[in-house]
Amino acid sequence: MDKIVSDLVENIPCRKAQIHLLASLLGEDECPLPNSIFLYGHSGTGKTLVTSAVLEKLGILTSYVSCVEFYTTRVMYETILNHLSGTVPSSINNYSSYASCDNIGEFIKHLRNIAYSKGKPRMSIVLEQSERLRDSDANILPVLCRLQELTQDINIIVIFLSSLPIEKFRAATGFMEPVVINFPQYTKDELVDILLKQRPSSHSVEFYKNYIKLVLSVFYLATKGLPELKHQVQLHFKAYCEPLEKGEADEHDIRLLWRNIEPQLKKSMSSVYLREVSSAQYERMQQLTETAPTDQSHFKSALTNKMELPYYTKFLLIAAYLASYNPARTDRRFFMKHHGKQRKTQAMIKAKERSSSQLVGPKPFPLDRLLAIFYSIIDDKVTPTANIFSQISTLVTLRLVTQIGGNDQLDSPKYKCAVTLDFIRNVARMVSFDVVRYLYDYA
Ligand code: ATP
Ligand code: MG
Repeated sequence: MDKIVSDLVENIPCRKAQIHLLASLLGEDECPLPNSIFLYGHSGTGKTLVTSAVLEKLGILTSYVSCVEFYTTRVMYETILNHLSGTVPSSINNYSSYASCDNIGEFIKHLRNIAYSKGKPRMSIVLEQSERLRDSDANILPVLCRLQELTQDINIIVIFLSSLPIEKFRAATGFMEPVVINFPQYTKDELVDILLKQRPSSHSVEFYKNYIKLVLSVFYLATKGLPELKHQVQLHFKAYCEPLEKGEADEHDIRLLWRNIEPQLKKSMSSVYLREVSSAQYERMQQLTETAPTDQSHFKSALTNKMELPYYTKFLLIAAYLASYNPARTDRRFFMKHHGKQRKTQAMIKAKERSSSQLVGPKPFPLDRLLAIFYSIIDDKVTPTANIFSQISTLVTLRLVTQIGGNDQLDSPKYKCAVTLDFIRNVARMVSFDVVRYLYDYA
């Protein structure tokens, strides 16, 4: 156990206390697991990182689910059962899940079956963004908190990850207190230590540390979010090193290097969180330049030929288009990870011809569905922030999306996408997303 913990502490800086506590609560080998654990802290404080690392090291069979992606509890139950039983819905099994399950009683019954068929291993369910569960069935939280008791002799734990403290969950009746572990925001020094981990081997620790401190001095006031800072540190390093490569400065001319990128950093301040390119895309572009330095036109155009919409907003618009033009029943097929391919039958082709949604026009969809699609098409990990929600209203203001109803408290609004296929293809091209592949009429 000590070896496991010390390895983890070495790989994940600044989270020693949390790793120790979590590992000692879970214990080793056949130890009985606690009922539930509740981890909370702001986004980017390492909850997912620490939890997944510890669970993996301890060899606990785990299902990770994000509560944003599930707009009904049924989808959530079925996904968890699929994960734990190792079922992957695909064309081979006709996209069927391990079992169809829409209430907690059935869920528990299936959990027991899975556990028995696997020889009762230690199992866990990790619920990301669990604050979302407060909006679903009133009894789901209390049940999940004491799942172990309800499944009787099954060794299972539910781990809640949340950006809200537990006090905000108490409304549910019969709520059993889980063990709470806090993930505090990283301090400036801790951020430097963590960011140092991504130092390219070609540069010295000292040099990279100075660079990180410079970037932090600009961005720290605007954001303390690690993923965003990581992105910014990555984004500007090349420009920072340029004078070195040209031979105009050496590693100690910090002032000169700083002056060189200062304008660029200030400019980036205006687009913190509103990315023009995703980090993954940026990395790919970096690799491209390294392998073929002359062929830069392709991604230059991706950068400069931009419509004045931030990166995530473009994806929101694409998600809105998909939600408007794809029937809801096909979402599973397009947006489930590992769905495999589906063969077309004559009957399906006929049915499609009868009801081409391009002819009928856009259909309204609820916000939940939009977000579920959005989170499944985006390749970065983003958290549901006020930012994403405000971008939806921006789209409405720009008349790219229309809102239907929702002015009173009873009825939540529905939306419709108001742009054409050509428009959305252009937007999708800018973010290198193959939208046609996800359209029911064309796929
Ligand atoms: P959310 O609430 O948004 O799910 P989270 O708390 O789960 O956020 P993570 O996904 O674990 O945050 O971390 C975000 C990013 O920061 C990841 O890329 C992760 O690798 C990195 N990160 C977080 N903490 C550390 C750390 N202590 N050392 C190295 N990397 C870290
Ligand atoms: Mg997380």
